[in-house]
Amino acid sequence: MTRKIPGLTAALAVMFALTACGQNTASTPDSNASAPAETAAPAPAAAETSHSDAPHWSYEGEAGPEHWGELESEFATCETGKSQSPINIDHTKIVRSGEIKPIEPHYGKLTDATVINNGHTIQVNVTGEDNYVMLDGQKYTLLQFHFHHPSEHQIDGKNAEMELHFVHQNDKGEKAVVGVLINPGKANAVFADLWKHLPEKASEEAVPLASPIDLSVLLPQDLHSVHYDGSLTTPPCTEHVNWNVLEQPIELSQEQIDLFAKLFPDNHRPVQELGDRTLSEGE
Ligand SMILES: [Zn+2]
Repeated sequence: MTRKIPGLTAALAVMFALTACGQNTASTPDSNASAPAETAAPAPAAAETSHSDAPHWSYEGEAGPEHWGELESEFATCETGKSQSPINIDHTKIVRSGEIKPIEPHYGKLTDATVINNGHTIQVNVTGEDNYVMLDGQKYTLLQFHFHHPSEHQIDGKNAEMELHFVHQNDKGEKAVVGVLINPGKANAVFADLWKHLPEKASEEAVPLASPIDLSVLLPQDLHSVHYDGSLTTPPCTEHVNWNVLEQPIELSQEQIDLFAKLFPDNHRPVQELGDRTLSEGE
């Protein structure tokens, strides 16, 4: 899109806000309240059409991550923010403290969820308040979860094959994300059904899950996590997101990973500077 044509800019901005990147406010508030990938909102019709209502940000080229901050004024934080995500989790920099409690997920069976290909990822939107996580005594309700390929966070400089983001919000509207790295290994039975019905085309409409998903099975056994103060990893890259990246990865079969990769060959944002932030973990 030509975002610099005078006069058109505002109109385009409005249009995009209504299409590709702005659905944040819609049905499900999500982590990215204004950004699709981290967002629970039904995402925009994007990739189906390649002209003006295509997503106005992407993972490559002129609308790729290094340009997000220039695409829209609301995306400026993507470029100027000092607490951006993802990051490289460098184990030599982790501060260990007995005062940090493990995350306490309360995830159960999702019976009423919907799944959407929003042009940026495959996302499962969750309704109700039955699924939540306790982080340092605070309750954050699960809004949605979605996937990145390859992973966004790095562990000591290396990406995993994929990463799963559980996006939550507390009653003050603050976001918290639990990130789970995914490595090739055994097929995951929980994903099997979801994977069988991956929506191949971007759409504005989320469809009901073909069968219930037991979310608790999507977590590793060891819930030790590295915590830091970060941001949404999609525009508008809003900061003050409570990040918790689990140390233990889960597994998907290579075939399951390949199925996702066929739809999204690369939907990850590169790592950002840690700056003066602290990486912390319980003992
Ligand atoms: Zn994400």
